[in-house]
Amino acid sequence: MPHVVVVGAGVIGLSAALRIQAEGHAVTIVARDFPSGFETIDPVTQINFTSPWGGAHNRLVPPTNATEVREHAMSLTTFAHMRATAAASPEAGITFMKGIEYLEAPGPAYRALTDENAAHDLGMEGFRMLRREEMPEGVTFGCEYDTWCVNPMVYCGFMLRRFVFQGGRIVKKELRDPVEVWDMEGLQASVDVLVNASGNGFGDPDVFITRGQTCLVANLCPATVTRQNADGSWTFCVPRNFEGGTIIGGTKEPDNWDPNPSLEVREKLLRNFAATYPQILGKDGKFTVIRDIVGRRPTRRGGMRLEKEIVSGNKCIVHAYGLGGRGYELSWGVADGVADLLKAHLGSGSSVTSKL
Ligand SMILES: Cc1cc2nc3c(=O)[nH]c(=O)nc-3n(C[C@H](O)[C@H](O)[C@H](O)COP(=O)(O)OP(=O)(O)OC[C@H]3O[C@@H](n4cnc5c(N)ncnc54)[C@H](O)[C@@H]3O)c2cc1C
Repeated sequence: MPHVVVVGAGVIGLSAALRIQAEGHAVTIVARDFPSGFETIDPVTQINFTSPWGGAHNRLVPPTNATEVREHAMSLTTFAHMRATAAASPEAGITFMKGIEYLEAPGPAYRALTDENAAHDLGMEGFRMLRREEMPEGVTFGCEYDTWCVNPMVYCGFMLRRFVFQGGRIVKKELRDPVEVWDMEGLQASVDVLVNASGNGFGDPDVFITRGQTCLVANLCPATVTRQNADGSWTFCVPRNFEGGTIIGGTKEPDNWDPNPSLEVREKLLRNFAATYPQILGKDGKFTVIRDIVGRRPTRRGGMRLEKEIVSGNKCIVHAYGLGGRGYELSWGVADGVADLLKAHLGSGSSVTSKL
C-alpha cells in the first residue's frame, strides 16, 4: 500500500486522512496549522486556518441543481458518520439536536418541501413543517429536523488524536507548493500520492474568501436555529456544547479581507438573534459575550474541487478544497470521494485528470 501525504489538518484534511488510513495506507499529514484548544488559536496569525472559526452545524439545503444534489448526498453521508461517531465516542465533540429553519422569503425549493418528501426524497430524519404560531414575526416558512453540531476544535482535536494513535505521522510545515512534499526529507521516494486539503488550493484563481463575523456567547441553546432574512442577511446560532458556548451569527461577505471584528456588527447580530429566539437570553435577559470571531470561508467559483491530477510520471495529487461554508457538513462525503479517487488512481495507474 503506498504511503499517502495529506496537506492540511483542517476538517477536510483530517477526515480524508482518517478515511485513507482506514483503507490500510500509511499516512502523513503536513500542515502549517493543526487543531489545538480554541482558546489558544491565534485570530491574527491563524485567520486563514478556517476550521477553528466555523460554527459548526449541519443544515438542510434543499437541492436545486446537480451540484447541490451531490452535496446533499455528501451531507447525508456525513450525518450517518456523525451519528455513529457520537454514539461510539461521546468525547468527539458532536451533539445531536433539532435544526430549526426560519425564512422570511422562501424560494421555490423551500416552498416545495412537505413532511413526506423531505423524509422520503431528501432522507431528512425528524422533519416537520412548523405551524404559523411556532414561527417568529416576519417569518413565512419554518421547519425543523434532526441534525448535529460540533465544537470544532474538540472535534478536530479528536480526529487528530485518533489519526496519531492509529499510527499516522504529522509534520508541521508551511509549503509554498504541495509538490514540495515529493522532496521532503524522510518522505521522498516512498510517496507518490498527495491530497491537497489546503482549504484555498494554493493560488487557485477560482478560490476567494467569504468573510464571516460571529460572536461566541456563554448562553446555551437546545437547537441550532437559522433565519434567512428577506434582505439576504442571516441570523443564526450554533451550539458548540462541551463548554464551548454558542455561536451567534453571522455575516457572509465575499472578498472582504478585514480581519477585525466590528462592535456594531456584533450588537446587530445579537439583537437580531434575540428577536428571533428570545429563549436564549435566559432569566436575566442578557447575552454573556465570550469573544468576537472573524473567519474566512474558502469559497470556490463552480464549487469545491474534488478531482485527481497527474503531475509527473505517476505522481498524483487528489485535490479536496474550496468547501466554502460547508466543510464540516460535507466532510465525510468528501473523504469518501478522496478515497475513491485514490483507489481509481492506484488501480488504473491512469495519466488523465479525473473528477468525482
Ligand atoms: C464564520 C464561519 C462559520 C462557518 N460555519 C460552518 C458551519 O456551520 N458548518 C460547516 O459545515 N461549515 C462552516 N464553515 C465553513 C468551514 O469552517 C470550512 O468549510 C472548513 O473549515 C474548511 O476546512 P478545510 O479543511 O478545507 O480548510 P482549513 O480549515 O482552512 O484547513 C486548511 C489546512 O491546510 C493547511 N495549509 C494551508 N496552506 C498551507 C501551506 N501553504 N502550507 C502548509 N499547510 C497549509 C492549513 O494550515 C490547515 O491545516 C464556517 C466558516 C466560517 C468562517
